[in-house]
Amino acid sequence: MRCASTGFLSDEYRPIGENRFRGFRQGADKTRHREVKMNGLLTDPYGTVQVLDRYGIRAKKKFGQNFLIDGSVVDAAIEASGITKDDCVLEIGPGIGTMTQHLSMAAGKVVAVEIDTSLARVLEDTLDGYTNVTVLFQDILKTDLRAVASDYNGGRPLKCVANLPYYITTPILLELLQEKGCFESITVMVQKEVAERIYAQAGEHSYGALSLAVQYYCSPEVIRSVPPHCFIPRPAVDSTVLCLRAYKEPPVQADEKFMFALIRASFNQRRKTLANAVSHGFSFEGRTISREEVEKALQKLSLSPDVRGEKLSLSAFAALSALLKE
Ligand code: SAM
Repeated sequence: MRCASTGFLSDEYRPIGENRFRGFRQGADKTRHREVKMNGLLTDPYGTVQVLDRYGIRAKKKFGQNFLIDGSVVDAAIEASGITKDDCVLEIGPGIGTMTQHLSMAAGKVVAVEIDTSLARVLEDTLDGYTNVTVLFQDILKTDLRAVASDYNGGRPLKCVANLPYYITTPILLELLQEKGCFESITVMVQKEVAERIYAQAGEHSYGALSLAVQYYCSPEVIRSVPPHCFIPRPAVDSTVLCLRAYKEPPVQADEKFMFALIRASFNQRRKTLANAVSHGFSFEGRTISREEVEKALQKLSLSPDVRGEKLSLSAFAALSALLKE
């Protein structure tokens, strides 16, 4: 494993806080952890508890830390992602390295982005010998994903596999989706309710802007559900593994930015009719849209002037946005 705190070009481990990492960097207290082989597979409760105890790690709620302890979940995610030795994988939040070890064995290269620098010491040991893994200690939401693809995979698309931190699932997914061409597939563990929002169809309760964004960029597949006892600590919610496979071409023709501005405005105030919500909330490059304009466009599409956003499919939004953009 190689570590890097900032930047993508350097292979060298550069500590964020010199004092904090000096010991780690010089291997000062590493011998203490060498009594037991720490790079054995972690996908069982005992291995995980042992690692957490040994390093005095407490799962941090603020970083959404729930560590996986079920090997069958990791296997299912990796199988769904179709990773081979030709692939470079981005893992978001390696935690103590449980999934990272398996990804390292399946893929050609693994780049893991972790915000919690206090996990550096444990990762150095659990990923000892996993030579195709690089850990970048930084916030995934501030990470230049194109630079990762360029620096680690010659600009070719990455595959993303992750047990996502649930407190920022939607912003992470939107970042990944909007970096078009950067990802071939995104296989992620998410909260069950978020999974439902992702694959919901028009007219269903959970349908919204996230469903439309996912449907525009990729085809979602539910891989399996995951109960709370597959993690330490147990989350308060059920989880689902999803695989999102990127389309080469989007399923509808549209001015993407304009259409998503329209979608956001339509769902910002869910209780309002679409005409009302858009006339109050739409703004794109200085352009606003009046209620009359929306109603006229809806009429051309044989839709009721009182229709709400949740009734419109992706192709209906594409058609509406083409009319309104004229
Ligand atoms: N992959 C590990 C596993 O399955 O056991 C840990 C998954 S845990 C649900 C989420 C991980 O994401 C944690 O390691 C957490 O520190 C990390 N994380 C949280 N916010 C992050 C962010 N903004 N950028 C990068 N990593 C983040």
